[in-house]
Amino acid sequence: MTVLSRAVRGPQAVQPHYDHSIVSFRLMTGLSIVMTAGIPCGLCEGNTVVRPMPESITDALEIGSSIVRVCEHCLTVEPSPGTQITRNWEPADVSEALPKDPEAAVATAVLLTLLSSLALNREEIQSVVEYLETEQGVDPLLALDRISTVPEFDPPIDPKRRRAQLAQLLNR
Ligand SMILES: [Zn+2]
Repeated sequence: MTVLSRAVRGPQAVQPHYDHSIVSFRLMTGLSIVMTAGIPCGLCEGNTVVRPMPESITDALEIGSSIVRVCEHCLTVEPSPGTQITRNWEPADVSEALPKDPEAAVATAVLLTLLSSLALNREEIQSVVEYLETEQGVDPLLALDRISTVPEFDPPIDPKRRRAQLAQLLNR
């Protein structure tokens, strides 16, 4: 099963990795008040933020939940229904390479996650591309270019190679 199908098609397939020892440590130290996004990434254990997905993308993906967790390290997106949203998230604090608008940044991460299986997710990819271009004025190919230049990002797929495949899919 691909990362994408786990992440987007099968929300029940991946159980969130939840480290109770970290949580109890935070409770003991009183840090729990500010630690609202304490669930690490299921793939790389990186820091995650919980954000709503843009409505048009939620509809296109048919995943039911519009709340997703986005890993700030590997940029993998996983459905996260019922989780408290990370407020005041500024993508620029993670990297200047991400689109400034939080919704556009989430959509870009969704695109990257979907690109792990271009064949399976062709229609969904096209919907996200359309959202980025028409509602956000973001060039998805340029966004992937920018992400591929950031050494701190470690997506499970090579953004450069997927960018080439996306360009082919979009006939550009
Ligand atoms: Zn991750």
